[in-house]
Formats: sequence, structure tokens, C-alpha cells
Amino acid sequence: MLGAIITVLLVAAAVYAVTQVGGILTLIFIAAVLFLAYKRLPLLAFTLTFTVLLAAYTLWGGQSAPAGVWKGFLWLLLISLWLLNVRPLRKAIITRPFMRAYLKLLPPMSQTEREALEAGTVWWDGELFTGAPRWSKLLAAKPPRLSAEEQQFLDGPCEELCRMLDDWHITHERGDMPPHVWDYLKSKGFFAMIIPKRYGGLEFSAYAHSCVLAKIASRSATASSTVAVPNSLGPAELLNHYGTQEQKDYYLPRLARGEEIPCFALTSPRAGSDAASIPDTGIVCRGMWQGREILGLRLNFNKRYITLAPIATVVGLAFRMFDPDRLLGGNTDIGITCALIPRNTPGLTIGRRHFPINIPFQNGPIQGKDVFVPLDFIIGGAKMAGCGWRMLVEQLSVGRCISLPSNATGGAKAASWSTGAYARIRRQFNMPVGRFEGVEAVLARMVGLTYTMDAARSVTAGAIDGGEKPSVPSAMLKYHVTEMGRQVANDAMDVHGGKGICLGPRNYLGRGYEVVPVAITVEGANLLTRSLIIFGQGAVRCHPFVLKEMAAARNPDRARGVDDFDRALFGHIGFTISNAVRSLIMALTHARFTAVPVEGPTARYFQHIVRFSSSFAFAVDVAMLTLGGYLKKKENLSARLGDVLSCMYLASMVLKHHENQGRPEEDLPIVEWACRNLLYRAQEQMHGFLRNFPNRFLAGVVRAFVFTRGRAYSAPGDRLGRAVAQLVTTPTDSRERLCQYIYWTLEPTNPLGLLQEALLLAEGAEVIEKRIRVDGVKTGKVTALDLPAQIQQALAAGILSETEAAALRDYDRKCMNLIHVDDFAPHELGTLAQPDEQAAPSRSSVHVA
Ligand SMILES: Cc1cc2nc3c(=O)[nH]c(=O)nc-3n(C[C@H](O)[C@H](O)[C@H](O)COP(=O)(O)OP(=O)(O)OC[C@H]3O[C@@H](n4cnc5c(N)ncnc54)[C@H](O)[C@@H]3O)c2cc1C
Repeated sequence: MLGAIITVLLVAAAVYAVTQVGGILTLIFIAAVLFLAYKRLPLLAFTLTFTVLLAAYTLWGGQSAPAGVWKGFLWLLLISLWLLNVRPLRKAIITRPFMRAYLKLLPPMSQTEREALEAGTVWWDGELFTGAPRWSKLLAAKPPRLSAEEQQFLDGPCEELCRMLDDWHITHERGDMPPHVWDYLKSKGFFAMIIPKRYGGLEFSAYAHSCVLAKIASRSATASSTVAVPNSLGPAELLNHYGTQEQKDYYLPRLARGEEIPCFALTSPRAGSDAASIPDTGIVCRGMWQGREILGLRLNFNKRYITLAPIATVVGLAFRMFDPDRLLGGNTDIGITCALIPRNTPGLTIGRRHFPINIPFQNGPIQGKDVFVPLDFIIGGAKMAGCGWRMLVEQLSVGRCISLPSNATGGAKAASWSTGAYARIRRQFNMPVGRFEGVEAVLARMVGLTYTMDAARSVTAGAIDGGEKPSVPSAMLKYHVTEMGRQVANDAMDVHGGKGICLGPRNYLGRGYEVVPVAITVEGANLLTRSLIIFGQGAVRCHPFVLKEMAAARNPDRARGVDDFDRALFGHIGFTISNAVRSLIMALTHARFTAVPVEGPTARYFQHIVRFSSSFAFAVDVAMLTLGGYLKKKENLSARLGDVLSCMYLASMVLKHHENQGRPEEDLPIVEWACRNLLYRAQEQMHGFLRNFPNRFLAGVVRAFVFTRGRAYSAPGDRLGRAVAQLVTTPTDSRERLCQYIYWTLEPTNPLGLLQEALLLAEGAEVIEKRIRVDGVKTGKVTALDLPAQIQQALAAGILSETEAAALRDYDRKCMNLIHVDDFAPHELGTLAQPDEQAAPSRSSVHVA
């Protein structure tokens, strides 16, 4: 409401300017000044141009009394601008007092928080914070590609692994992968994708690593979770970056050959999300080690949820290190430290298993009671004592972009691939269910989200291969890609109906659906990541001025600090004004005149991202200026701003992915759906932010600049949804591009291959079926109710030829094979039931077909 009032006032002011103050020249003068702000002229250049414009306007502008007052105001403004150009003066009057107040407001920052903030690099996320992202930076990045060796691995060992995986056997019958699968994983280097070749590893690119995980995830969540962990944050990654040469030479070849199975233990019963508060301790003391007394650590810890722990041979352990007797000569509280503890170390209790939601990858607790180890066991040696947290957050910025996003994307691809085909072969009301509008809308969402997930994981992996360690995008991917995966898993279930629900060897969706909460929870639980991390880290890390201001204010060299602070502060003020103006102009014009580097149907999305970027940057500055450190506590506001940032980031990834794939025209409906969905969401989250902003007046002002013409951006429409759905319910190139790198090989045990086979036959079969309906059922020549009998009657009546009847029978048999679900004798399901106890079949186990 307030936003609307302010918009009306702005329009009234413009009308007044034209009619009372000096006609059209006034508007031209204001437009010229706004244009300068839009173009972000530096202060001195702005002041000079403003002087020239004002002189001209004074000479030729209106001469009425209101015009005189208006011009007087403008001359005062000009004088202030010139004064602001005198740095010693502005430092004394403005910068110093402001800096003093700012220092008081600045929340204290622990070493841990500082390390988390400084970890990784700033990439496209930083551009989105500027309000004027440089597209050349994103578009110039090389498209990610697999090397010949990586491609061979995907087509060879990875394909073979997928063939070997029998997910029902793994998840229901054995509760583990069978020994030959474990041996295959170890011997082919699946656990060594990030280990350098010189140590015997595969040394794959981030992109290849991601594609391998996605492919395995399309077949088995147990296998993909197992493979993800040794290649993510854990001993190999930490040794690679921080290990001593001796540690690398010993462990990395053994890890590469699969002789060592690693796990990484951070989480404790009392410290989950707040992992930095672990109560596990390592006390520096003297003790006996291999018959000698040495200086070492006495460890006491209690960890849970540790993936691979039950079978691990070496445990990466995070604990808090203390040196109460100052045996190392420094602080008594040394801080979080990471060490490698061999499984057979006395005092270690390991081997029991948790049971993570029916996905039986190895996961369990580890306890240690007075475990004594030498200081050499610290990763990187004693000099890295206390550096554990930095090590973890630095490596998380890469690992979090790959493991969970790739697994979630692989699962979503498999779900879209199977659901598209299933929706075509499953008929109800004499129609494939995928042709009903309600189902089409769900299919479109699945496809649009899967495309977004794939774009985000592959373009970001490409950036990592280009040398980035994108910490804020890693949080955005972790949260949004796994949440999209959750939506896709739900949608796939809905479209499959009972077929998705009844578990058994024929069910290809159930375990993917069950594993969703694991992806949501691990590596930074999603609620926390959205509420605290994405924007909280982004605002400080990616903002062009905030980190500079904080560093300058804390600079112990006072004079230098004031100088730096002054530069940052005035840069920041100009930046905010410019973003407000840019936001207003692009809101008024719907960004139609914003320059972007591409032409054609996607250009508008580039323009809208620029518009949202300016609005976002302006809103962020208003929020930080008024709420300061309190914004961290207002988690819902933070989360909404994080959503706006993430939606812009993901939409950029979609556009870049489309460019990387050579702009296939056939995919345009999906690209449009994905961008519309994301940008609509950005708009709605910005609206939610303003609705809940505590200072209602400022919320109204920002709304007037951001939504000057209201919330005009619309979500994807039904017609677009239908076009998208059709791309996966027919065997198109778009369908194959969307689901590239999943296990779709045609073989008897692979539902994804069988569904595609049926889909390829569907078109021809539907034509024959229609003939039976039109020439047989409607004329009364065919009276049977089920298809096999109808085919028989149609053949007898001469409606179908032998070949057509055979083709339709074959198609029907293949479809019914896919549509059937499993049933069991009772003892096959309950672990305590005995075969002879429940010999008679129960109702649920009787075949209905
Ligand atoms: C299957 C599985 C495998 C795992 N593997 C490993 C492993 O190999 N190594 C390891 O060290 N750990 C591992 N973990 C632990 C995992 O990282 C933690 O479960 C996770 O950090 C969350 O901790 P928690 O489960 O104790 O939830 P809690 O910390 O109790 O959080 C509960 C809820 O509160 C939310 N929350 C907490 N604080 C905030 C906040 N400030 N704002 C908003 N929301 C908040 C969380 O997001 C969560 O939704 C694993 C966990 C699982 C389930």
C-alpha cells in the first residue's frame, strides 16, 4: 500500500515538474541526472557533468517562482557535491564519526566465523551483488567437457557398475552392497576420483566427478552415497591440500588402491548443525607409543551419523585441542583440529551401524576413550593444530557443489526420464495420463526443475575446473538443488500413483524418494543453510563494499583505516544510489532497454536478471543499513534475500547451460519454464521480504523503486507447461539431453531402459489402439473389456492385420510388465516371521491382475 502511495507521489511530482516548474526541460534534466546515476559515474565525474547540466538548465529552464526555488535547491545540492569531493573535509565531518558509530554496531567476529567467511572465492555470486552483472565473465567461461579418459570411465567401469547394482537386493535383502560390488568400486578407483594421478588416483575434473555420481545415483542411492563420501570432504581431500609429504606418500596411494576406507567424523550428539561447538577433546600430553614415551594427544570423543564408519580403516577426526600444561609453548585452547586415526588404535570403538531411512549405506557411530596418538597424526602435522575449522570450510566450498547436487540431479534425471515414459504408457480414461492437464503441469515442473539442477551442477562444476572455489554458490546449490530434488521425487510419486508406492524389485522410485531427507540434512542441514548461510555469508563475502568497510574499521593502523573506510563508504553510497535509480528505471521499462550480450528468445531473461540484480542490491543495502547485525537474527528476511540471490544465480546457470549446449531451439520451452519459474520466485521472495521488513516506511520506499509497476512478472503458463511436458512424454532429443549421463541402457533388469523401449513403441501402438476403438468398439464389432481380448476380436473382424496385432500385443506385454508391482509372502517382509508360521497368503499378497 505504502509502495503504491509513494509511486503515485512520484508520478504527481513528475506532472508538477512539467506543468509548474519549467516544462519538458525539467524532465529532460532529471532524466539526464538519472542516466548518470544509472551509468555509475564516479563522484568527481558525476559532479562535473552535473555542474554543466545545471548551468544549462538554469539558463534555459523555466523562470517561474517554483522553478526558482527548485533551482536554488539544485545549486545547494551541487555545492554539497563539490564539498564531498574534498576528501580531508569529508573524512573529518562524515567518515570519522560514522566509522566510530559503525565500529560500535559491528558484531564481534570469532576466528572461526572469520575463517568461514573468508573461505573460497567469489564468482558469479559476486556479480549478482553489484546490480550490474558483467555477463561477459559468465559467458566467456569454457563449457565443461569430459576428457577422453573420463568419458571412457563413464562408458566403461561406471556403466558396468550400474549393471552390477541390484538395488532391491542391496536395500532389502542384504542391507549392504555385495562383496563383488565393493571389490569393483575399490579396484576401479571409484573412491579415488579426487586423488592425484601421481599417487595412483584418477584425478578427475570436478565435472567428470559430478557426472559419475549422477550416473550412479540414477541407479542406486546406496551406491552413490557410498562413492560420494571418500571423494568429498574427508581424509583424501584434506591430505591433498594440507597433509605433510609423509602423510600424502603413505595414505594417498593406499586410499587410491582402496586398501584404506576413509570416513570423516565431525558430528557429535551435542553438536550437529553447530558443528564448531563439538565437545570432543584432544589433550596434549606425554604417553607411550610403540614402546617409547612421546608427546602426543589423548583423545576422548563421541561421534554419530558417520558415513562409512562401520567399515572404515582410517578415521578423519575433528576435535578441540587443548594444551593445559603448555607443552607446545603456545595457547592452552588451540582450537578445532583434524587428525587421522587408524581403526586399530586402542580405545577406538567402531563398527556398529545406523540405518539411514532404508538406504543402507554404511553409517554409524564412533567413540574414543583415552585414545593416545602421536602429534604426527594431525593432518598437516603439529603446525596445523587449531586450523581444522578453516580446513573444513575451505574444502566444503568445493565438495558441497559436487556430491549432493550431483546425486540429487542424477536422481531427478532418472525420475524425469522414467515418469515421462510412464505417463505415456499408463492409460486411464482411454488416454495416456501424461496428456491430462493436471499431470502435464506436474511433468513440466519436474522437467523444469531437473533442467535447473543439471544446469547449476554442470556450470558450477565447470567454474571449479576453471579454478574457482565458490563458497556461496556451494551453499546455494546444496540447498536449492536438494530441495528441487525433493519436489521432483514427490512429483514422480504422484504421477506413478500406486506403482511408486509398492516397494519391491520392480519399484524404481521408492528408494530415491526415501533418500531425500538424507540429502536435505547432511553437509549443512537445509533449514540452517537457507536461513543463516546463503545470504549471511553472501552479504559479507560478495558485497563489493561490506568486507572492505569491515576490514578498514578494524584496521589497527587508524589513519590507514579511516582512509580505506572513506573510500569504501563513499563508493558504497554511490553504489546504493545508482542501484536505486537502476532499479526504478528497469522497473518502469521492464528492463526492455537493458543492454545484454545475446539476442533472440532468451535475451529477455538476461535483462530481467539484471533488473532483479539492481533491485536486490538496493534492498540489501537498505536492509543492512537499517538492521545491521540484527539482520542475522531476522532469519526469515535473510532467507528471502538468499532466495532472491539464489534464483538469479540459478537462472544465470540455466542460460549459460543453454549456451554451452549450443542453444538448441527444441529446448527453449524448458529454458523459458526454468527462467520464468526462478524469476517469478525471485519476485515473490522480494515481495515477502518487503512485506515483513520491520521499518514500514522504508519498505514502502524500496517497493516504489522495485515494484513501480507492481509485481508484473508472471509464473510459467499452462500452454508452456504442455509444451515442456510433451518433450519428455515423446522420445525427443530434449529428453535425452535433459537426462544425459544416467543409466538408460536397455537390459532386462533396468527399468529406465525398458521404459524407453516402451516409449519408442508407444506412438505406433496408439495409432493401432485408436483403430480398435473407432472401427471396433464404437461399431460394436469389438465388445471385450481388456486389451488382449480386444486385439483378438479386432483381428477376427479384420480391423487389424496379424502384424499389427502382434505389435500391439508386444507393446501391451511390455507396458504391463512395467506397470505391475511386486507382492510377497508375509515371511519375506517381516524379519521375525517364519515361512511356516504364515504359509497362507494374506489379502495383500494375492495377485489382483
Ligand atoms: C545419513 C547421514 C550421514 C551423515 N554423514 C556424516 C559424516 O560422514 N560425518 C559427519 O561428521 N557428519 C555426518 N552427518 C551429520 C550431519 O552433517 C548432521 O546431521 C547435520 O549437520 C545436522 O545436524 P543434526 O542432525 O544434529 O540436526 P540439528 O543440528 O539438531 O538441527 C535440527 C534442525 O534445526 C535446524 N537448525 C539448526 N540451527 C538452525 C538455525 N540457526 N537456523 C535455522 N535452522 C536451524 C537444522 O537445519 C535442522 O533442520 C550425517 C548425517 C546423516 C543423517
